Amino acid sequence: MNFKSKKAILLGAIVSLFPLLNLAPVHAEDGLRIVSSSAQASFPLTISFSIAAESDVDITDIRLHYKVLRHSFADVTAEVYLQFVSALEVEASWDWDMRRTGGLPPSTGIQYWWTVKDAGGDQIETSPVIVWFDDERFSWQSLTQDMVTLYWYNGDMPFAEELMLAIEDALDWLEADTGAIPQEAIEIYIYATSQDLRGAMIFPREWTGGVAYTAYGRIAIGIGLDNLDWGKRALTHELTHLVVHQMTLNPYSDIPTWLDEGLAMRSEGSLTYYYVNALNQAIGNDSLISVQSISSPFSALTDLAILSYAESYSVVDYLITTHGKNKMLELLETFREGASYDGALMEVYRFDTSGLYRRWCEYLSVPVEPVEPEEKVVVMVNEVSRMHPAFVVTLAGLATVFLVLLSLVAENWTWRRAL
Ligand SMILES: [Zn+2]
Repeated sequence: MNFKSKKAILLGAIVSLFPLLNLAPVHAEDGLRIVSSSAQASFPLTISFSIAAESDVDITDIRLHYKVLRHSFADVTAEVYLQFVSALEVEASWDWDMRRTGGLPPSTGIQYWWTVKDAGGDQIETSPVIVWFDDERFSWQSLTQDMVTLYWYNGDMPFAEELMLAIEDALDWLEADTGAIPQEAIEIYIYATSQDLRGAMIFPREWTGGVAYTAYGRIAIGIGLDNLDWGKRALTHELTHLVVHQMTLNPYSDIPTWLDEGLAMRSEGSLTYYYVNALNQAIGNDSLISVQSISSPFSALTDLAILSYAESYSVVDYLITTHGKNKMLELLETFREGASYDGALMEVYRFDTSGLYRRWCEYLSVPVEPVEPEEKVVVMVNEVSRMHPAFVVTLAGLATVFLVLLSLVAENWTWRRAL
């Protein structure tokens, strides 16, 4: 499906999302009128809104109203008072500078309308219009399968199909393992390089390789033709975040970080050597981080972050292998009802966070045996914290930080409980 048809569908959906909006302009009976109105998007930095109006008496008040189209329980409309000199004919404009507010993902819709008043007390409210914040640097192709649409511009159809296959596998696995399935459409933007991706972001980190915009059901990630294996793994991780977010979305509370990251790590497959090693060391040194602590966003310190991810994987692994898939689905559904961390655990498992920590420690009672790395493969997904956008460490970033470890990283490592 191309962009235009996608937008036509979205527009229909959006109109139905806002049934209470007065879509008809409120026209004054005398001379107050809108001469022109426009919005010029320049992704990812600015959107410039402009208006020209005239009347038989001075125009005294112009306001821009806009709302970002995303999944939210709060219907938030922003209002901007435009600066201009009162006159019979006026032109005014306002630039939304994303550097001041934070960026938006590609292809976000922004609905906007104007209210204009004159000195005679007349007022006009224009009909809402949607401006699309598209990344027009590239010619996007698309491929849709069920709930997921993939957009890409570099590589042929088999490249996109291979990614789509990995997505389908990940969704199948997630459903089989936890019962979680997508609740809303998911859009994935595949940039050819992490550099192209960073060009789509405001103040990107040097090592940013992927971003999950959970409130938009969207992922943006840099996957080159030569790093497809890494890409599939990172994509699977972020996709799981989206689905888990959709499964647990509620206006009251979120889910503990260990659950969110643990499910995402588990969806990638076996825990890689680097994480297993971190976990084994912590078990050996008696320096595990408590489950209570990894309920909050992870430390920005690399070592602690790595251990937090490894523990999250292990805690989720413990819950699923020991208590089963149905309980995990029940847990997600309980969180969707707005339960607290302890409340949800108590309801489903009959123990709270500290009880989980105790049981998990018992489960870990003997460290796993060290296993020699089998092959030199750099497969690592990392994030600084649970804050969104989530960050995925790129190969380039890893090369700098973990150069010495590259030869140690191995695939096909299985984290297993010692007998
Ligand atoms: Zn993550």
